Amino acid sequence: MNGKRLLVLDDDALVAGTIRQIALSAGFEVHCVGDGTAFLEAVERFAPDHLVLDLLLPGMDGVQVIERLARAGCRARLVIISGLDCRVLEAASRNAAELGLAIAGILTKPFRPAQLRALLSEQGGCGGAGPVATGRADEAQGEQALAEDLADAIADRDLSVAYQPKIDCGTGKLAGFEALVRWEHPLLGTIGPARFVPLAERLGLVDGLTECVLDLALDWFARLRADLPAAALEPGLQPQLSVNLSARTLSDTGFVDRVLARCGRAGLAPAEVIFELTETAAMEDPVASLGLLTRLRMKGFQLSIDDFGTGFSSMLQLVRLPFSEVKVDRSFVASASRSHESRAVVKSIIDLGHSLGLRVAAEGVEDEATLALLVDAGCDLAQGYLVARPLAPDCVLPWIQARWPAIDTPRCLRVAGSAA
Ligand code: C2E
Ligand code: MG
Ligand code: MG
Repeated sequence: MNGKRLLVLDDDALVAGTIRQIALSAGFEVHCVGDGTAFLEAVERFAPDHLVLDLLLPGMDGVQVIERLARAGCRARLVIISGLDCRVLEAASRNAAELGLAIAGILTKPFRPAQLRALLSEQGGCGGAGPVATGRADEAQGEQALAEDLADAIADRDLSVAYQPKIDCGTGKLAGFEALVRWEHPLLGTIGPARFVPLAERLGLVDGLTECVLDLALDWFARLRADLPAAALEPGLQPQLSVNLSARTLSDTGFVDRVLARCGRAGLAPAEVIFELTETAAMEDPVASLGLLTRLRMKGFQLSIDDFGTGFSSMLQLVRLPFSEVKVDRSFVASASRSHESRAVVKSIIDLGHSLGLRVAAEGVEDEATLALLVDAGCDLAQGYLVARPLAPDCVLPWIQARWPAIDTPRCLRVAGSAA
């Protein structure tokens, strides 16, 4: 064990339980309490190095708890969570920082496990002595080794891509695939992109990563397209391949020409490719990104705003940049069948997207009830474990044949046959 200790203050036992599970799986020892007084006592007894604090509490509220923590000289790193308006959360976080507390971050409910894990794994200046410091040194060394391995993997093009299907909500037919990069580490096994894409970005290696993904995905998609059975497709509609872009790519002035040439080599038209980027990525260099994204659209590529609704400037980005698709973040989709608020958010994003002339996709669709309410709300496309998990390249065609079992001649043969 690395000796990390997390103390949670949330009066909602369900939320506290979820946080506990996430933190346990990240190697924390966890203690949860439901009110401010018990929390301040536990800070003394349990000596946590991380705190998760809900703002809205019965009795002593979160802001009062923050003031008491500051007066006690607490050095633990603080994650503030709440279902309150982002602006209230940000104000509380500024207040805590000005009082001298170490802020790991803020999270609005509902949040994704990966977001909390990322905040808990951030390295901070607070801290314990002895064993914790040693743990951090080990982690830093581990991170350094991982960085070197990643640099080698990208240089050797030793990455792979999994493909997750997207279906048309109305017809249930295949609409396309999202390419999701994977790294098979020789010792650590499969590492997900949430862990290594940000590392590649920090190391300045993400251009190589994107090129590797594009090479693999465009060729794979061109081959698959020729074998797709007509039963899987809506007549007249082309399936599309979605590829994620990083913020850094948006300042790479040669990107548009390179990707055009690559599509040409694979025999794909730009209209068959969708680039997905998050609004945070688009915001990193707003001027450069506007130029590059406009050029991509002018060449015929589609653009999708990913994880929509989680950033701080979603609306602004949606109107300012030339997107053709909006992807509702899975945190809203996953809770839509249980939460009235999430349903309202999903419905408003669908209506907003349509009123701007965009296609709307929902990601993270895990059950039939969610798909049914998306269909009802007029959502265009659905992606999620209900349809399929991300699939290894060789598993895609068998998956399609099992889902649309009609005995069918591949389109390429039919076209060739009918032309003859
Ligand atoms: P994303 O683009 O939002 O991709 C969707 C993520 O949600 C994927 O995680 C996918 O496996 C996961 N997912 C799909 N359906 C469900 C579901 O029903 N339930 C749940 N719980 N999760 C679902 P993954 O593959 O771990 O990718 C994480 C993120 O990493 C992606 O989020 C994307 O932002 C980034 N990423 C992936 N591939 C690339 C890449 O080639 N380049 C760049 N720059 N980023 C990438
Ligand atoms: Mg994506
Ligand atoms: Mg997404």
